[in-house]
Amino acid sequence: MTLTLGSDSAAGCFGRLFKRRKASKSRPQELASSSTYPSSSIKGGSEKSPEHCHCVCPTCDFSFSDENVWWNSESKTTLPPYSPVIEESVSDATFTIAHTLDMLGSRLRELSMQLHGHPEIQFHEKFAHDLLTSFMEDHGFKVYRQYLGLSTAWRAEYSHGKGGRVVGVNSEMDALLGLGHACGHNLIAASGCGVAIALKAALEATNTPGKIILLGTPAEEVGGGKIILLDRGGYDEMDLCLMCHPGPGPSHSFDVGSTLAMQNIEVEFFGKSAHAGAAPWEGTNALDAAFLAYSSISVLRQQMKPDQRVHGIIQGKDWFPNIIPDYAKMKWIVRAPTHAELQVLAEKILNCFRAASLATSCELSIRIDAAYYDLNQNAALAKEFETVIKQRYQMETTCRGSTASTDFGNVGHRLPSLHPMFAIPTEPNGGNHTSAFARAAATEEAHEAAMTVTNALALTAFRAMRDETFFQEVVRSFEASQTTS
Ligand SMILES: [Zn+2]
Ligand SMILES: [Zn+2]
Repeated sequence: MTLTLGSDSAAGCFGRLFKRRKASKSRPQELASSSTYPSSSIKGGSEKSPEHCHCVCPTCDFSFSDENVWWNSESKTTLPPYSPVIEESVSDATFTIAHTLDMLGSRLRELSMQLHGHPEIQFHEKFAHDLLTSFMEDHGFKVYRQYLGLSTAWRAEYSHGKGGRVVGVNSEMDALLGLGHACGHNLIAASGCGVAIALKAALEATNTPGKIILLGTPAEEVGGGKIILLDRGGYDEMDLCLMCHPGPGPSHSFDVGSTLAMQNIEVEFFGKSAHAGAAPWEGTNALDAAFLAYSSISVLRQQMKPDQRVHGIIQGKDWFPNIIPDYAKMKWIVRAPTHAELQVLAEKILNCFRAASLATSCELSIRIDAAYYDLNQNAALAKEFETVIKQRYQMETTCRGSTASTDFGNVGHRLPSLHPMFAIPTEPNGGNHTSAFARAAATEEAHEAAMTVTNALALTAFRAMRDETFFQEVVRSFEASQTTS
């Protein structure tokens, strides 16, 4: 997700850090009292997050720190190994989740590395689909392949007893063209499997009724796989949904802030070719239309807010200097802190295309894809996650957020959801969507960080399944977020 160099080349990408506007939403004043989680033997990094806030900020940054405090892979600091000492007094579920993930860790690492070695782009995640569905089947889940008409989507579910809460988990799988797993979705995929399997073990150990639904979600970077699954009912049964995402950040840190809403726009200008020297007046120049649109948007930037983004490219077909170009295509991505604000900005961008069409007499065709919404992190789930991370690992959770975007944003506006980011060690300037981040996503340290967030997500979800008071708080937090958004 997080992009570091201001060169967002793909839709699901996260932008460069900057100071975001103050949050418009905050957590409810009163949250259910948190569970207490026994501290593992692990001591977190000594480096504290620069700022700790108790609000879930829909407008804060997502790679959750300035570059100068990123966890540097060159440094000697490494995440302590995940090998919690289980005290006798801990609850069955806490023990079971930790133990299950401890036993499963090397297998999840293998899964992650297999995916890393076979990067597949949006809607082509065939290897990942087959590998992960077999894995979940082997662990006692009922698997639905090619789920809801998407050839690489899948669903793995498990029920214990009758009734109970339904927890959803997401495993992203897609990589980036030419860069491989430069967004670390191999870690997300393995983590999703880990959360689901650990939860299953906890339901069995404590005889807690409930259902777990793990979705293999294709095309996060471009294509909005989750939005398609959401529209087709893939999330209907869930009471809440969880996933995680790696990014640059301070050593041993996590973030539950928001991301930007995002709109993909594809524009085509149709003109008429002519000899550029002999009879240019007979032509209608589609490249000129694209040039004018690009220039208009560049001018518009001065009036844009600091946390808004617009970035695009121009593509031609059979262009040559002595032929008036009769066709030009542009692909644009527009981002803003909320969907409402995005719509206003997108309309201004659309006017730039219309003006260019008018000025050049080119015909205009516009395709607007489904928007990615801003991340609506559930305040009660975020607070519980933060508590787990603090009590069990002595690590910090911030809520700075990112200028990136994700299709999980749409999920969070439909049902209570949580999408923590977790830091992995990176090379300088080696954030998401760089080859350096692809290398980072394959390290043992990144896997250990993924296992920590996996454990914390499983504990958070289990509390929502087991604790009615807490679950009602989750529901109230969601309802409050809907009235303020
Ligand atoms: Zn990405
Ligand atoms: Zn990503």
